[in-house]
Amino acid sequence: MEIGGYILSEYIPAKPLVGNLEVSFTGGEQTSTESCAQLRCGEALKFPFARLDSQPRAVEIRRSQVLVAADKATETKRVVELTLESFFDYEPGDTIGVLPNNRDELVDRLLQRLELTDQADTTCHLKLALNCAKKNAKLPAHIPATTTPREILTDCLSLNFVPQKQLLSALAGFTSDVKERSFLACLSSKQAAEHYQSLILEQGLLFMDILELCGNCRPPLAFLVEHLPRLLPRPYSISNSPLEAGPQELRIIYSLLSEKPGITTSMFEKKIEEITAEKPTKVVIYPRLSTSFRYTEQDLGSNQILIAVGTGLAPFLGFFAHKERLIKQQPQQKKGRSWLYIGAKTPEAILKWHKLTCWGGSVLERIRMCKSRGKPPNYLPQVLADDAEDLVEFLLKPETVLYLCADGGKISQSIANALSLCLQKALHLTEEEASRQLKELKTQGKYREDVWL
Ligand SMILES: Cc1cc2nc3c(=O)[nH]c(=O)nc-3n(C[C@H](O)[C@H](O)[C@H](O)COP(=O)(O)OP(=O)(O)OC[C@H]3O[C@@H](n4cnc5c(N)ncnc54)[C@H](O)[C@@H]3O)c2cc1C
Repeated sequence: MEIGGYILSEYIPAKPLVGNLEVSFTGGEQTSTESCAQLRCGEALKFPFARLDSQPRAVEIRRSQVLVAADKATETKRVVELTLESFFDYEPGDTIGVLPNNRDELVDRLLQRLELTDQADTTCHLKLALNCAKKNAKLPAHIPATTTPREILTDCLSLNFVPQKQLLSALAGFTSDVKERSFLACLSSKQAAEHYQSLILEQGLLFMDILELCGNCRPPLAFLVEHLPRLLPRPYSISNSPLEAGPQELRIIYSLLSEKPGITTSMFEKKIEEITAEKPTKVVIYPRLSTSFRYTEQDLGSNQILIAVGTGLAPFLGFFAHKERLIKQQPQQKKGRSWLYIGAKTPEAILKWHKLTCWGGSVLERIRMCKSRGKPPNYLPQVLADDAEDLVEFLLKPETVLYLCADGGKISQSIANALSLCLQKALHLTEEEASRQLKELKTQGKYREDVWL
């Protein structure tokens, strides 16, 4: 990409962000610690949705298994299951937070750019700049009191984020190259709003892409620490029952984008390559607060309608395994009925199809699936529409709960629309009445969603 093509003849740069921090090197060498630096930040640092009784901890990745192989022709994503050591109690549907880290190569490149390769592992600390003009300036809580440049860039800061205009304007001040300076300053301006829209918002250039384009831009580490977002934990759904392996182990399932894979999923990929019998590979996790999106012993007698697309099946695999074990443990107990609606690209992309078919019968009374690359019906809304009468009758039973695991965006909306159509058809409602009824079902806790994005 030629950045010169994005420089207007007239523009007014956005007000640049200013730096209020300084990095002070203390001289010692820090040998790399195995777990994430954010664990050394003390109590001031909160982990989103963390259970109050539990701190993040490095746990062993015991096993990994590829559930679905990537396939370019059908745009199927690679899906992997990880078995992790666990240190807390959980129920199917609960989620964990995973602390990611940035790739070593990316961090090395950035250290080189910042001319910090020689000091990468030298201990340092942050302090407020002497000439700090900001009244309420403070040190970021997600950086440990003593750390190193490598640790900051690996564990604490997000490097792949959408750069805001004020940040771009400040970056213009950190390059000696006139063209780069004009490009960055112009991109931050109101006059170049169309360029910002097309490069940043549509083509998706992230902070590191901008630095790649501007090879002479060298923002100081202290500036990055102050203005780059914190590298945040990512949630993953537990995909097994504690009755299978005991609470000492848990499983999660992730999918990997073939192009530009994400931070955490790339980290998982690297870690599973490193698993050997001699040296366990670890990942930092913590239990997140439970929500109503879970399946516990109390639910054995109730009915479920479970709707999932792709990897969204993950939490339901835990539900079914739990139900199977509970039925074995308590054969005399009344058991509810479960219906599963699942959408995937191809039959091979359905997670644990063999297990699902084994659960058919007492655990799973009905399984309906569709494949977007195959014979119709291709999409879940069509499948739901075909079952409209049955589905609504089942949904309206007092002991039935509907669980939907999807992206919270277009897919969730298309399923909500399909359910609304089912209600309209089966109960002869208007669109407005059906949408009111759906809302009520949500309020009553009969329509529960796990939103992944
Ligand atoms: C409550 C909850 C439970 C979740 N449970 C799971 C789970 O069990 N399994 C699971 O795989 N994910 C799950 N997610 C999503 C997960 O937290 C991450 O967002 C996802 O794995 C990508 O993380 P990343 O750090 O690799 O990507 P990032 O670096 O954060 O991603 C960069 C961009 O790429 C997109 N992206 C990255 N990977 C994918 C992908 N595989 N598919 C689509 N878009 C992608 C992101 O949405 C983002 O826009 C859950 C999310 C929530 C909120």
